[in-house]
Formats: sequence, C-alpha cells, structure tokens
Amino acid sequence: LDIEDGPSPKKHRRNSKAVDAVAAAERRKQIDAERRQLPAWAARDKLLQLLQEHRTLVLVGETGSGKTTQIPQLLLSARFGSIAASDKFISQNAGEVGPSDDVKSPYEGAGVVDRDGVFRSAVNHEGRTQFNHHTSTGSDVNGVSDHGGPEQQTGIRSVGGSGGSRVYGGAIAVTQPRRVAAMTVARRVAEEMGTKLGDKVGYAIRFEDVTSSSTRIKYMTDGLLLREALVDPMLSRYRVVIIDEAHERTVHTDVLFGLLKGVQVRRGDDFRLIVMSATLDTARFVDYFPGAVAALIRGRQFPVRVMYTAKPEDNYLDAAINATLQVHSDEGEGDILVFLTGQDEIDSAERLLKEHLAALQGSRGASSSGCRELLVLPIYAALPPEQQMKVFEPAPEGQRKAILATNIAETSITIPGVRYVIDTGHVKARDYNAKLGLESLAVVPVSQAQARQRSGRAGREGPGKAFRLYTEADFAVLEPTTPPEITRCNLGSVVLQLKAMGIHDVLGFDFMDPPPRAAILRSLELLYALGALDATGCLTEEVGRRLSRLPVDPMFGRVLLAATEMGCGQEAVAVVAMVSTENVFHTPRQKEREWRAARLKFISREGDHLTLLNVFRGFRELPKESNKARTAWCSDNFINIRAMRKAEDIYEQLVRFLGPPSPPGLGLQLATCGEDSTPLRRALTAGLFPHAAKLQPDGSYRVLATGRQVFLHPSSVLLDRKPDCLVFNELMHTTRTYARDAVAIEARWLPELAPAAFAVKSAAAIAGAGVGTSGGSR
Ligand code: ADP
Ligand code: MG
Repeated sequence: LDIEDGPSPKKHRRNSKAVDAVAAAERRKQIDAERRQLPAWAARDKLLQLLQEHRTLVLVGETGSGKTTQIPQLLLSARFGSIAASDKFISQNAGEVGPSDDVKSPYEGAGVVDRDGVFRSAVNHEGRTQFNHHTSTGSDVNGVSDHGGPEQQTGIRSVGGSGGSRVYGGAIAVTQPRRVAAMTVARRVAEEMGTKLGDKVGYAIRFEDVTSSSTRIKYMTDGLLLREALVDPMLSRYRVVIIDEAHERTVHTDVLFGLLKGVQVRRGDDFRLIVMSATLDTARFVDYFPGAVAALIRGRQFPVRVMYTAKPEDNYLDAAINATLQVHSDEGEGDILVFLTGQDEIDSAERLLKEHLAALQGSRGASSSGCRELLVLPIYAALPPEQQMKVFEPAPEGQRKAILATNIAETSITIPGVRYVIDTGHVKARDYNAKLGLESLAVVPVSQAQARQRSGRAGREGPGKAFRLYTEADFAVLEPTTPPEITRCNLGSVVLQLKAMGIHDVLGFDFMDPPPRAAILRSLELLYALGALDATGCLTEEVGRRLSRLPVDPMFGRVLLAATEMGCGQEAVAVVAMVSTENVFHTPRQKEREWRAARLKFISREGDHLTLLNVFRGFRELPKESNKARTAWCSDNFINIRAMRKAEDIYEQLVRFLGPPSPPGLGLQLATCGEDSTPLRRALTAGLFPHAAKLQPDGSYRVLATGRQVFLHPSSVLLDRKPDCLVFNELMHTTRTYARDAVAIEARWLPELAPAAFAVKSAAAIAGAGVGTSGGSR
C-alpha cells in the first residue's frame, strides 16, 4: 500500500483501498489515544497486582472510566484469559517481569483510595471486613505511574492451589444486565483490538451467539451466564468472570453472586471474580465475598448544574421534547441525552421532535443557518446494530446530537460528547406482586441514585447541565436507591434453575439480599402447578428437568411441552418465537389506514397468538433464499423484517432444543395441527393458566388466580369481540393495568389442563365471578 508518500487526497481518491487503509490506521491511532486517556488505563498495573493477590476484586469507577471496555483487555494482555491455567501457563511466564517485590507500593494490601487521597484497605478476611486507615504517600490508583509501560506484559504468579487435575478453559466472561450493552461493547472492544467481532471478542445473548472457539473475551447477558451454569456448574470455560454493572442488582446478577461464591470455593486460586460497579457502595460486595478487596478507579467528573421544573409536568414526554428544543436553541455546544422509558416512547419522541424541527425550519426559511442542525438519534435494545452504533459517532460539523435513550445510557454505555441531560424521572422497571403472583413491567419514578447517575452523564467531558423534568420537592421524596430486582420479581425461572442445579433448599440459598419468602413460596407453587416440581419440591424429570433446559420462561416452556403432546408442536414453537420478538408490526401514524388494511388478512378472531402465527406462516411461505421477496412482503404488509428474521431464528433454535434425540434436544415430536386452532389454544392454556381471566359485565377482565381487574390492551385483536375466557402473556401498567397478547380459551379446559391450580376449586368459582381462586393449591 502506498501510504508512505504522505496523504495526497487526490491520489487516494483514485485508490480507495489505500484510502481505507489510511482511514483505518488513523482510526486505530485515535482509538489507541482515547484508550490511554481512560482512568482504567492508568490504573492497570495496580489492578493486575490486586488481582494476583485476591480472588475477588470489587472495582468501582465512574461511568465512562473504562471498566467495561478496558479491564477485560487488560486481563487478556496479562494472560489472565489466554490459555488454560495449566503448568504450561506457569512456566511460560516464569522469569517474566511480574508483580515482584520491587513494585510494592504504598497500596500494599490493596484497598480503596478515597477522594481525599486516604487509602483504605478493605479486605474481607473470611467474611470479616477490616479497615485500616493510613495516608497514601503516592498518587491514587488513577495516577499510579506506569511500571513498565503499555507494551510490557505483566506475568502472573503461579496459579497452583486448586490442586485438582481438572483443566479449565481460559476465557473471560463479562456479564451485562442488558443485551444492547453486551452487543455494543463487544463491537467496540473488537474494534479496539483490531479483530473481527466473534473472533477474539464476541458476545452472546439469548438466542444469539456471536462467539467462536477462538473467543477469549465474551460479553454476555447475566441471564445467559446463569444458563451456562446450569450445564457447567463450575463455569469451567472461564478463568475470570466479571460481573459488570453490579450496582444494578438484576435478579440474574444476584443469583450469579450466590453461585459464584460456590465456584470460588471449589476452584480455588484458579479462578478470579471481578465485580464492577458504578456506585461507591462497595461494602455490600466486600462483605459478601470472602477474601474480596475493593478498589476505586477515580474518574474525572466535571460539575453539573442541576435544574428542576418550577411545577410538576403533566406529561413528561411533551416536557422532554420542549426541553430538548429549548436546550438546542439556547445552550452552547454539546450533545443532548434524553432519558425516556421505552421504545414506543422513544419512537414517538423522535417523530414529534422531527416534526417540530421541520416546522421550525420551514418558518425560518431554508437559508437560516444561524442555528445548527439537530440530529435525533434513538438507542434501545430492539434497534438494528448499525443504528445503535450511530449514537457513538461524533456529530458532523455544525450539528448537535439529541440522543433519545432508555435507561441503557444511565451507566451501561457512555456516549461521548454529551453536555446536557434531560431526565424525565421515569424508568421502566419490573415489578412483582408476590401476594397476587403477577409480574409486570411498569413505568415508575427513578430513585435519587438513578437521578444522580443520569445527571452525571452531562459532566464527563466538561461542565454540564442536567434538566430534571420534576420539581425539587418531588426529587426529595424519591426512594434513595432502587431495591434489588430479586426483591420485586417473579422468581419462577430462577427457582427452577436453582432446583435444576441441585440446590434444593431455595429458601436457604445464600442470597446477598434474600427475596421475600412469599415470592419464593409463590414461585414454588407456580412450578408445582406447572408440574415442574413434585409435592416434595423436587424437580420432576418429565416436566421440570425439561423446562429447565428450555431458554424460555417456565410458563412458555410448559406451553411447548404440552403442545408436543397435543400435536401442535410446530405451531406452538412459532407462537413462542413470535412472542419472544418485539415489534413485529410497523404502525406508522401517517399510514394508519394502510397498515390497518394490511393487518386484516392476518387477524384471527381467536386471539393475538393466532394472529402472530398467521404472520409467521405467511413469512415462511416465501422462499428463504429470496431476500427480495421477503423484503417486499414485509414492506407491503407493514411488518418488521428484522423482527421476522429474529423470530425465524428463535423458531429454528427452539426446534433444535425440542426435537433432536440427543442433548440439548429433548427428542420430542413436533407435529402440526393444521388449521384447527383448538389444540394450540389448549396448549397455551396448559402453560399460561396462571394468567387466565374471565370477562366481567363492564367489559373488563378478572384474573382468576388473583381476582385482579385488568383491561384488554388496545392493540389486541380480541378487543372487538371479547371472549368469555382468555389467557394472556403479560400485564402492563400505564394509567390502568392492561393484559397484553391474549387468546380465547374455554373455561372448562382449566380444571382439566391445570388440575393442580383449578381442580380443587369448584367449577362454579371459575364460571362465576372468579374471585378467590389461588394460583397454586398446596
Ligand atoms: P465504564 O464501563 O467504566 O462505564 P466504558 O469502558 O464503557 O466505561 O467506556 C470507556 C470509554 O469508551 C468511554 O469514555 C466511551 O466514550 C468510550 N466508548 C465506549 N463504547 C464506545 C463505542 N461503542 N464507541 C465509541 N466510544 C465508546
Ligand atoms: Mg461499563
């Protein structure tokens, strides 16, 4: 390549390969320079040393300090994740410069560096935390001088100690609570390392595995690592497990904590656990893990001016749009980050913002160039990856980005360039009512800690401003922190997995924060009612063992198993694949008449599941090779082709889980019921019966298991002809409680298909008001 001659633009235009090479080289250089600026980079020697001495490292660092992207690479370069921890490994490193005695530092014993420069050792010896205070003589972790420099490989100490003959794999697992984070971060790190995504660096989320045998750093959702633990309780593929975003305390993270504690005991010095968090509250983690040490990476944070509204806003979405436009017209340079709660909201905000901007443009005349352009960019999980990556690109000259994000941007991903934060004060969170046994996704107010995190995003690169769309008085009454998810979610799937791992005494499991007893009992009841547990609480082979292997919620797993017996396995797999996919239908506001007309031909009077099945069938009739035909069909029918491809992929994976006779296949028959919907609706009943509901005279429904009043979601095809009895997928709270995705069933099927839940109650209770039937009856 002719790049030595110096960059002559003309010449390069002729040779596009050379241009690409130059561009790539420049980009690498720039990325390299960016990496070196990160606080995590400066701290790397110190961190390695801590990790050689301690089995658990609790690492705290401001969002954007480089924890997620840099720490795994650091471990890899120090061979913490290169090859199996075998003798070969040790001898290879013998003689290399390592954490020898001459690099002892004032941090000896390791610990937390306070902002005032006080070094605090916080090692948990056999579960007891000891704090020694002494003043640091050197710089803080952030400012530790480079011993050796970037190219130097830090060898690691002998890894003996496990004593066993078992050889473990050497990969590094990094868990994320969110799929988007796993994907975007993996992509970024692959770029930083100059490798193809899926090669040395990859990611895995449910139903999507972009890794290979050469993958050393694997970003994955915490839920997926939990699934892996089911088949491989020692997590033997991994030398290091990093639980990232630990402060979020998702239910999967919390269960992993308990499991990892056990793995540590059994694998000994051969295994390292790093718990990374964006909040300073390390004590909980250090107390929980024996031998843990805490360290702080001090990031740079500029002051952020926080502004509140003078009076409460009725509609935070409108308020967010106004605030965005106002910041854009009144404030100096810098991108705007707007926190919204979900995709629907983001989509409408994007549309409204663009409409406003177009109107402004029109009224000012095209020539007015005084105001820079506003580039509106959404980011959420279901967005195509190319679009996700757009938010990370700097705004073109003369433009400003307005990023409309879900909670993903609170700590999981850091978007460069943000100077202004607009906080609607709301978040979509899982909520579980143990007494009612119902889980739902609801829009709820954020906690004070979340509000602070959000505001902090404005001060990463310079002083910033945060606009909170609520009053200061409202802020004062917000919860100080968000309680761990495990204390407020449906534990069905978690309890099932613990049981499948042989952890019988779920109530006695070493949870960092035990969930409410009632919630555990409730999920035991549910699993019993589904037939997954027997009366003694042991996993049943026939149902329980199989359910634990299926990567879907136990209720949907039960639907699949029932369907294989009822001769509608193919249909049930298609339905489960479709409901696992988000946003199948495209509903542009300007073309409402058109999409409604297109939708008609798929609608089944019997319910949303069957409507989705019709869509899936229509899609599958097109030749798989013909992208053109498929794209045209989707576009004609206002159907999202990405969602369909995803559903097809999930369908094929589920078929592999159910069909083949050897593991992971369960060796079940996947027959088809053709046009007769009854078997499929019965199979859905067999799994979704805890969500069975009966029509009330006022047009609402009453959930049989709980007596709760719910309304059919406006998107349901059953809205015009409400059936007497139905089962639904999930509840959603907005102004009222909606049942989403519903299918008509016969009330008399319930005692037959869910005897453990309904048979003991009189049929009259079901046929009548339906109040007072309990979900399980043990
Ligand atoms: P932390 O985990 O400590 O919050 P990260 O490792 O995620 O920090 O991010 C470190 C830096 O890398 C951030 O400053 C961010 O700007 C940059 N970064 C992360 N992901 C991307 C990306 N996809 N594109 C560009 N920059 C990124
Ligand atoms: Mg991170």
